Parts: sequence; C-alpha cells; structure tokens
Amino acid sequence: MASGAASPRSPPAAKKRAVVVAGDGDDSDVFDRLPDDIVLVVLSRLAANAASPADVASAALTYVAAAAAALFFLLFPLGVVFVRRGEEISHGCARGRRCRRFRELATHPAVLSRASAAAVAVRWGAWSEAAHRFLRRCAAAGSLHACYFLGMVRFYCLGSRATGAALLGRAAGGGHAPALYALAVVQFNGSGGGKADKDARAGVALCARAAWLGHTPALRELGHCLQDGYGARRDAPAGRRLLLHAAAREHLSWKKHNHGHHDGSAAEDAVSRFMVAWWDSHRAKAAARGCLPGEHGDGEHDGGEDLRLCSHARCGRRETRRHEFRRCSVCGAASYCSRACQALDWKRAHRAQCAAARWLAAAAAAADGVAH
Ligand SMILES: [Zn+2]
Ligand SMILES: [Zn+2]
Repeated sequence: MASGAASPRSPPAAKKRAVVVAGDGDDSDVFDRLPDDIVLVVLSRLAANAASPADVASAALTYVAAAAAALFFLLFPLGVVFVRRGEEISHGCARGRRCRRFRELATHPAVLSRASAAAVAVRWGAWSEAAHRFLRRCAAAGSLHACYFLGMVRFYCLGSRATGAALLGRAAGGGHAPALYALAVVQFNGSGGGKADKDARAGVALCARAAWLGHTPALRELGHCLQDGYGARRDAPAGRRLLLHAAAREHLSWKKHNHGHHDGSAAEDAVSRFMVAWWDSHRAKAAARGCLPGEHGDGEHDGGEDLRLCSHARCGRRETRRHEFRRCSVCGAASYCSRACQALDWKRAHRAQCAAARWLAAAAAAADGVAH
C-alpha cells in the first residue's frame, strides 16, 4: 500500500533503504528501517494537508512527531513495524542522527513544494528572518502558495516590487488564482510604477483568467469593469450577470467556511491578515515614536507618510505611490485598491460611514451659515 504509493512520487535523489522486518540489533528503530521515499511521501501529504500555520522555527520537529504517528498507523497493519516493548516511537527522535535525517527529509524540496496554503501562512507575529527563509525555500521548491504569499509580502510590505512581482508571476503562471487576481490589481493601479503604467486591458485579462479558475473577487471585479466599460467594451447587462454570479458564489463559500471547509481563498485571507497586521504595527510604532501619521498613512520613515491603505479593512494593500488608489466619489475620504474592495466595503461598512460623513459636512456647513 504505502510503497506502491511511494514509487511514482519518489524523487530520484532520495536515498533508498531496504525495508527490513524488525528485530535486528539493539540500536535499530522503526524509522531506520523505513526508506526515505516512503517517509517523503508521508511528509508531503502532511505538508499538503496541514490545516494550521506551521510553527516555522520547529517545522521539522512538528512534522517528525506527526510523521511518527502517521507512519505507525500506516504501516502497522502490514506487519512491517516492530516496536520493542516499552519503547516509544518518538523516543528515536531524541537521537541526533535520526533527528538530522528527519530534519533533512522534512525540508526536502519534494515536501516543501507540496506545502498547503495554511502551511506557508506565516502570521505577522511569527515573521522573522527564519520565516522569510522558510518561505523562500518553499517558493524555490515550487510551492505556488509560498510564491504567492512571499510575493505579496515583498511587493506590498517590504517594498521589493521587482522580486515580489516576479514571485506573483510565477504563482500566476502555475494557475494560482489569487496570484492572477493580485497581478490584475497591480495592472489596474500601475502599482510599483507611475500613472502611465496602468493597464486596464491587462487587468481585465488577468481577472478573466482568475474568475475562470473560480476566484470570486476577480469575477466581481470583471463585472464592475464590464458595467463601467473599463478595460473592456461596456456591456452593462453582462456585468450585472457576473456580479449576481459573484454574489451567489460568495454566499456559497461563506456557507462552506462555516462548515469548516478550506478552499483557495485560504491563501488570500492569510496574506490579507498578515498585511493588515503589518501596517497596524507600523502605525503603532509611529505613534509610539510620537510622529503621528495622517489618518491613512503609516507614518513610517520610508517616504510612505502620504500613502493610503485600502479602506476595505480586510484587504491590507497600501498605495505604492501617492494618489494611486481610487477614492469614494461621494466623500473622497475612503480609498480602494479595486472596484471589488470598494463594493465590498460599501456593503460592509462605508455605506453608513459615508452617509455620516456627508451628514456631518452638511451640518457643519449649516452651522457656518447660522454663524454668519
Ligand atoms: Zn464615501
Ligand atoms: Zn483593497
């Protein structure tokens, strides 16, 4: 069962060890008798199905503990495993050689390339050079989720636009829908470049590809573009149909989320959470230093004092140049990276805030009139 599944996926470089039925020598351990390719298959499956962010610092050890349990239950019925009386499987991990072997296997490119969206979703609080290195290794091994996550963090948070865009491009080229949509937003805004770099047609093409792959925000964006005739020929009825379709999909995915399902949006949610927390901390640091930032700026001394965050509270994108994002045409106070963010925020919060802002402005004008 296990070895049958192992052979087609086994990387050529993996050292093969013969499976020997247990009982040979005191120092032997169940892991010693397992060939590398079987361990790699189990670790790859664990990486692909990881449901929570890996604690990056101890990722290898976490995998080892889980793999020990998985291997035990996988192989015990085959009679391959022989556990000496009183010996715990995990006991072997304490021995340096086995520990090293498993660390090597757990960070093997074959395992890292299968990392799930949740496995690479580093929390902002856990961000460190080690986390950055872990994501780089996963991305280099070919994990599209890691390419997307690291691409977004580099592009928007670290300001490394070229390498960020290249990573997003790699994920998009592999058919990663959130990465396609992220590049569409970059094209619509000309992010990382000047106003002249806006390319609405390219944005629409990327959105269409992402929407075709089932990405709901891209479908919504496409609907707005068709309605407004932005980057595509104006077709209001078709735009409305796409928006209805997007609303229906959103409702379905909300129901799925509530039943504990995971879909492609996990990577996107994780990136947004990371970016929102990143800018929150920048704002807090700036406030602690006493240089109060503008309402939307982050106040960091990176020339970003006047750059606004997307007003959709769960987006986390920040302008890459002044006046990059579109403004709410009613109040002018809210900025959005995309039509999709604007529409979502309008439904979620801004409808009330915008009306309140208008009412306050009207009241102030009236008070002014009375005073004069
Ligand atoms: Zn407004
Ligand atoms: Zn946004």
